[in-house]
Amino acid sequence: MKRDGNMESLWQHGMEQYQPVNQWNRDEIYDVLIVGGGITGLTTALLLQQSGKKCIVAEAHNIGFGTTGGTTAHLNTTLDSSYDQIEKNFSKEAAQHIAIGLKETLVMIEKLISQYNIDCSFSYQPAYLIAETIQEQQMLETMVEATNRAGVQAAFVPHAPTPLPYRKACMIEQQAQFHATKYIYGLAKAYEQEGGVLLQYCMVNNTAHDEYFTADTSLGEIKARKLVYATHIPPGINLLHFRCAPYRSYAAAFTLRSGEYPEGLIYDLKDPYNYFRTQEVDGKKYLIAGGCDHKTGDDVNTQERFRELEAYLHNLYDIDSIDYKWSSQYFNSADGLPYIGLLPGHTETYTATGYSGNGMILGSLAGIILCDLLMEQPNMYADLLSPSRIKPIAGFKEFVKENADVISKFIGMRFSYEKVSQLAELAPGDAVLAKWEDKKVALYKDDNGKIHALDPVCPHAGCLVAWNMAEKSWDCPCHGSRFSCNGALLTGPSRKGLTSLLWEDIEGD
Ligand SMILES: Cc1cc2nc3c(=O)[nH]c(=O)nc-3n(C[C@H](O)[C@H](O)[C@H](O)COP(=O)(O)OP(=O)(O)OC[C@H]3O[C@@H](n4cnc5c(N)ncnc54)[C@H](O)[C@@H]3O)c2cc1C
Repeated sequence: MKRDGNMESLWQHGMEQYQPVNQWNRDEIYDVLIVGGGITGLTTALLLQQSGKKCIVAEAHNIGFGTTGGTTAHLNTTLDSSYDQIEKNFSKEAAQHIAIGLKETLVMIEKLISQYNIDCSFSYQPAYLIAETIQEQQMLETMVEATNRAGVQAAFVPHAPTPLPYRKACMIEQQAQFHATKYIYGLAKAYEQEGGVLLQYCMVNNTAHDEYFTADTSLGEIKARKLVYATHIPPGINLLHFRCAPYRSYAAAFTLRSGEYPEGLIYDLKDPYNYFRTQEVDGKKYLIAGGCDHKTGDDVNTQERFRELEAYLHNLYDIDSIDYKWSSQYFNSADGLPYIGLLPGHTETYTATGYSGNGMILGSLAGIILCDLLMEQPNMYADLLSPSRIKPIAGFKEFVKENADVISKFIGMRFSYEKVSQLAELAPGDAVLAKWEDKKVALYKDDNGKIHALDPVCPHAGCLVAWNMAEKSWDCPCHGSRFSCNGALLTGPSRKGLTSLLWEDIEGD
């Protein structure tokens, strides 16, 4: 199973690529086309298929290729945006609604696991929030009060399973964890059992809507009456791209010499916060830890973030071996809650995004909401989380036009190989955003010493990409599109890869 990064996550270990069984009928007009085979797409697809809709899922790579393959898979009824923040940004009622929604979602996940016998090590766990300083303690006290007001039980406890020197800790019961990719493989199998069609290596390019949608894909045209972009962030340029910001987070799975692994989900209150939990895979226990988050593109030397995380962990634990290290991307929304529902400005196209670090539970909640919306059933969370709660942005049309111009001006530029190789004093495996006259060029030297030169302008909205050293990708800091070292598209919202410069020159060299 592949992922959108160079480093292997724990969830890739031992996972053969999923093999779909159901055949695609190219003549059929499906009820719903779901684009994206992560937790959002597969949950939505299964719930819709169970409800009698005929669905087709199109995933550009293998299922789990996106952030679902790079998660840490805690399932919480609290969010990164704490209940006091939700009360402040929305209302007390909104916080209570969200709490009900998250609890309902957890029950649904457990029900699906039991109904379809999904072997994914699901277990309920207590969560612990740790305050190390006076300031954090005050924060925690406010959070605990608001969490209880929202209807999620949180209580201070004298002991938490962490070596962190905490002043105060609170416990929240009935949180959960699972094995992320085993769970979505189980969802995919269940979805197929219910008659759904799943296409992997099926990139959805443009879609046209007339009587129904016709999606132009890498495997041919798919016809469907409704469209769901479960792509973590919708493709194209939409208001949502101006309300969601991409972030990277770093994780490691390691073994402990003591053999004593903590029970529970553990979080500190730093900004960015660190998170911990234990997971057994194939009979071996690992402690998973994550943190060191930053805005995508803000740090080229992403290896340094792993060193930072490792140093922090070595300080806390007697580590036997660090077996997995990986990083992945998430999207923060402007007001702390996700956007789930109709894509602004559209009547038949749905999406879900802006999950922050809670997309395993929120992607599952999105499945419930999107299923209800598509089944034309009432849903008590739909208004609160509607993407249309966003007001239109002044000058939006001009922005799109200007950025289209930036792209068209840059493409077509050619360099001589000599000039670029002078600029590129790079070690194999390294990359740089080099300056060429008054322009920038993205250079990567592969292990054979061959230089790959790319136009660094992201085709999505015209921002300059930045190199991600650890995952060997070009990442767009504006809206989170990511590209391989050769410029191939890894994740949207861009629909295209980076333009290769000098390709002919290099070939002829
Ligand atoms: C390090 C890290 C740790 C995290 N830990 C947690 C956690 O503990 N708990 C939690 O709740 N959340 C966590 N999250 C967040 C959570 O993992 C994500 O929000 C969630 O996995 C997103 O799922 P998704 O299905 O929406 O998107 P993805 O898993 O990214 O899936 C989208 C899919 O769409 C496909 N796609 C995109 N464009 C196209 C196209 N045009 N055609 C076809 N296919 C396309 C992609 O290939 C991809 O497979 C974490 C995030 C990070 C970065």
